[in-house]
Amino acid sequence: MTGQQNMLKMMSLKHLLVISLALNVGLISRVMEVSREEKHVKKVKDDAGSKTVSYSSFLPTSTAAPAAQDDGSIINLDHGDPTMYERYWQQMGDRTTVVISGWQLISYFSDVRNICWFLESAFANAIVRLHKQVGNAVTEGRHIVVGTGSTQLYQAVLYALCPENASEPMSVVSAAPFYSSYPLMTDFLKSGLYKWAGDAYKFSKDEPYIELVTSPNNPDGASRVAVVNRKQGILVHDLAYYWPQYTPISFPADHDIMLFTFSKSTGHAGTRLGWALVKDEEVAKRMTKYIELNTIGVSKDSQIRAAKILNHVADSIEHGPESKQSDNFFEFGYNLMALRWAQLRAAVHRSDLFSLPSFPSGTCRFSGHHFKPQPAFAWLKCERDIEDCESFLRCHKILTRGGKHFGVGPEYVRISMMARDEIFDRFTDRLSMINS
Ligand code: PMP
Repeated sequence: MTGQQNMLKMMSLKHLLVISLALNVGLISRVMEVSREEKHVKKVKDDAGSKTVSYSSFLPTSTAAPAAQDDGSIINLDHGDPTMYERYWQQMGDRTTVVISGWQLISYFSDVRNICWFLESAFANAIVRLHKQVGNAVTEGRHIVVGTGSTQLYQAVLYALCPENASEPMSVVSAAPFYSSYPLMTDFLKSGLYKWAGDAYKFSKDEPYIELVTSPNNPDGASRVAVVNRKQGILVHDLAYYWPQYTPISFPADHDIMLFTFSKSTGHAGTRLGWALVKDEEVAKRMTKYIELNTIGVSKDSQIRAAKILNHVADSIEHGPESKQSDNFFEFGYNLMALRWAQLRAAVHRSDLFSLPSFPSGTCRFSGHHFKPQPAFAWLKCERDIEDCESFLRCHKILTRGGKHFGVGPEYVRISMMARDEIFDRFTDRLSMINS
């Protein structure tokens, strides 16, 4: 061996040593990070468990019983179906049971003196009561319009805001990543009144427009404000997730048009109800007109059921210390989301192929909890050289919704955090096993 060869050998040995040292330091810090995350999961569980003796019956299977074995079957987290709330409502038993006799609620009409003549007053009262308690929206000086889900209200609001005689359809925009249904709902009937114009950040036309401000945002959970900010714009605030289980309630929202849904507040997606809080009387009238022409009102049976459920939620908060902490609906939701986010973050750290958004913490004026948002969806990014995150996860039999549906790249996916406990636990277990 020549002197030069000897030298090269020595150098590469030295290099190897440095690289292996660096790798080990990296590995050690990863292991420490993962163990920190796991400790956090345990702490969240302990905190929740120590609240009351009966609380454990509300905890996910991973806490109340050993997690189910992963049988390798498909885990579908594509839709935001809020079945995680089932456990709470089961536990409440008959307290929210509604019995409607055959002769009741037959008429089309609820209150003909109201602009929204098909709005049941019991439902309207329960909405106002809950918003006042939670402090998440101003209801004074607002008209309430009920819809078959916030989905119908979305269409009603577009109809209401567009002039009938405009020469061009009005542009509808929202900042990317936006809720994947907006473009589909806007364009599916090829309306002459409005058209989907995409990402609000890229909207440059000097013409009237409608901007949807979704806060917290679906899919990424961010708190949002309008981004276009031009005189000719009309804002619609979609506040489906502005509830204290998902985000600190920092102020009562006070916008001209606010949309809420029963689906994501209490988890009753199947009841198909939403409500709009609308300042302008003309807009409320036109929204009502749309629903009149579309479905001649909204199911009264659903509204009566929703009133009962919303009043239960309000009672569960009001009865304060003497009522069981575990009955408090928002405490249940808050603790469950905290646990799920801790579980997910631990799985993501362990796997090392993914990343999640980080959020600033805030104090909730409703609950007093100081916490970081724990959104209803996780906005997961595939790192390294994984280009299509949705396909990558599909190979592991995890179904999610890819970034392109939300107006961004395929490296992102949206994952529902609202599945039943057993499915969510299986998901985090499986995710943590996927690594490079
Ligand atoms: N807006 C947003 C932001 C949503 O996430 C959803 C539900 N996925 C809706 C509206 C529609 O809700 P609903 O079930 O009331 O039609």
